[in-house]
Amino acid sequence: MTIRALITDKDGEGYATKLTTIDQADLGEGDVTISVEYSTVNYKDGLALNGKRIMASYPLIGGIDLAGTVEASDSINFQPGDKVLVNGYGLSQTHNGGYSEKARVPAEWVIPLPEKFSTRDAMAIGTAGYTAMLCILALEHGGLTPASGDVLVTGANGGVGSIAISILSGLGYNVLASTGRPSEAEYLKSLGAADIVDRNTLSEPGRPIGSEKWAGAVDSVGSHTLANVLAQTKYEGVVAACGLAQGMDLPASVAPFILRNVTLAGIDSVNAGRAKRIEAWERLAKDLDPAKLESTISEVKLEEVPDVANAILAGKVRGRTVVNVQS
Ligand code: NDP
Repeated sequence: MTIRALITDKDGEGYATKLTTIDQADLGEGDVTISVEYSTVNYKDGLALNGKRIMASYPLIGGIDLAGTVEASDSINFQPGDKVLVNGYGLSQTHNGGYSEKARVPAEWVIPLPEKFSTRDAMAIGTAGYTAMLCILALEHGGLTPASGDVLVTGANGGVGSIAISILSGLGYNVLASTGRPSEAEYLKSLGAADIVDRNTLSEPGRPIGSEKWAGAVDSVGSHTLANVLAQTKYEGVVAACGLAQGMDLPASVAPFILRNVTLAGIDSVNAGRAKRIEAWERLAKDLDPAKLESTISEVKLEEVPDVANAILAGKVRGRTVVNVQS
C-alpha cells in the first residue's frame, strides 16, 4: 500500500524536501501504526529540512510531532481507533516523522490524546506548547507563583513564546512579552501579555547583574538575551531555558546565582520521560483553552511545509503552523 510523505534527501547540491509516495512497508520499525491527521512546523523542523544537524540519516521523513488515530497495534496499551500523539524522541532524527499519511513508532513514544483536545488542537500545541508547559512546570517546581512577581517570556511571537504567554496569563501571572516585532503587540496582548519588552534591550552584551525586574522567565532565545534575563531576575527567581533562537552561547556570570539565589532550569522536551510528558499534557488540558490558540494558528498542506520551514528559520512565522496531512 502506498502513502503520501514528505521526504528530505541529500544530494551533491545540498538538501531537498519533496512530496512523494512510498510503500507503507518502508515506514520503519515500531509496534504502533498511526494514521496521521495533523503535524506541525517547529523551529527544529526548519533546521531538519534544511540539513542543519537534526536528521541522522537520509532519506528521512521530517516532522518532530504527529497526532492521529491508531490503525494497528502490537502493544496491549493501544487499540485501533485510539486517538494519540507523539512529540520528539527519534521522530525526524533517527526515525521517520510526522510529515506522512501514516507513521509506525515504538509504543513507548505514544501518548494518549487528552479528551479535551482534537488531533488538530494537539498539533497547534505541538512540541512548542508541550515545551512551554515543561518550562512552566519548572518555574512552579522552583517555587514561582503569580504572587512572586512578573514573568518574562522571550521569543514572544514564536511557538513556545505564544503558548507560554497564553498559559501563564490564564494562571494569573502578569506576563511581560519580549519581542523584536513590536508591530505584533496587539496580538501578544490578545494572548494575555500585560506589557511588551523590546528584545533589543536584552540582546546585546550586558552587565553581570542589574536591577531586579522579573520573578521568573521562560527563555527560548539563549545567548546574551538569557544572560541579561538572569542578571535582571529578582531574588529567588526562576528562569527556564529551552531555546537558542539568538545563539547557543551563554555569556553570563555566576552573580545572579550567588548573589540572588536565582535558579536556572534546563528544559529538554525530546527525551523527557513518559511520566513528565503525561503530566505536561494533563496540565495543558487543564490550563490551556484551545479556543485561545485559534488566533495563533495557520493551517498548511504537506506540500507547503518546506516554505514554512524556511520562513521559521528566518524568524518570519508568527504563532503556530498546523499541517493538515490528509488534505
Ligand atoms: P519560533 O521560530 O517559532 O520562535 C522563536 C522566536 O524567537 C521568534 O519568533 C522571535 O520572536 C525570537 N527570535 C528569533 N530570532 C531571534 C534572535 N536572533 N534574537 C532574539 N530573538 C529571536 O521557534 P519555537 O518557538 O518553535 O522554538 C523556540 C526555540 O526553542 C528554538 O531555539 C527551538 O530550537 C527551541 N526549542 C527547544 C526545545 C527543547 O526541547 N529544549 C523544544 C522546542 C523548541 P519575536 O519575533 O517575538 O522576537
